[in-house]
Amino acid sequence: MSDMSKTLFTRIIEREIPSDMLYEDDVCVVINDIVPQAPVHMLVIPKKPLPRLVDATVEDQAILGHLLLIAGEMARKFSVDEAFRLVVNNGADAGQTVFHLHLHVLAKGADDEGFSELDIAN
Ligand code: 5GP
Repeated sequence: MSDMSKTLFTRIIEREIPSDMLYEDDVCVVINDIVPQAPVHMLVIPKKPLPRLVDATVEDQAILGHLLLIAGEMARKFSVDEAFRLVVNNGADAGQTVFHLHLHVLAKGADDEGFSELDIAN
């Protein structure tokens, strides 16, 4: 039986729930969003289940920095490093639905035109 105290993303990290896993290291994973809001829509997720960005403390500084570096690396890997957006929804009123910190990396595909404000809902 699954442990309901685990977040959805912890269950994905532990392979209890399948995902399109693009990258993994000791600190984080990167998966494709199941409901993409843009041609490229990845989620960079720390293994530490911080519920929201505001729950991070100075102890988490290295994790937060790592997430940004990996977001940039993934953008390069998918050839969207010239134009991508990072979004963190903090709190339900800001649209957060999964309470395990994650960065949305949103981009047009490498061969698509540039952004318009309407392209990306997040
Ligand atoms: P939030 O709204 O919390 O900022 O973002 C949560 C994101 O997680 C949403 O974009 C949603 O589509 C994505 N998501 C929710 N459940 C799953 C899932 O089971 N697998 C994957 N890959 N993404 C999910």
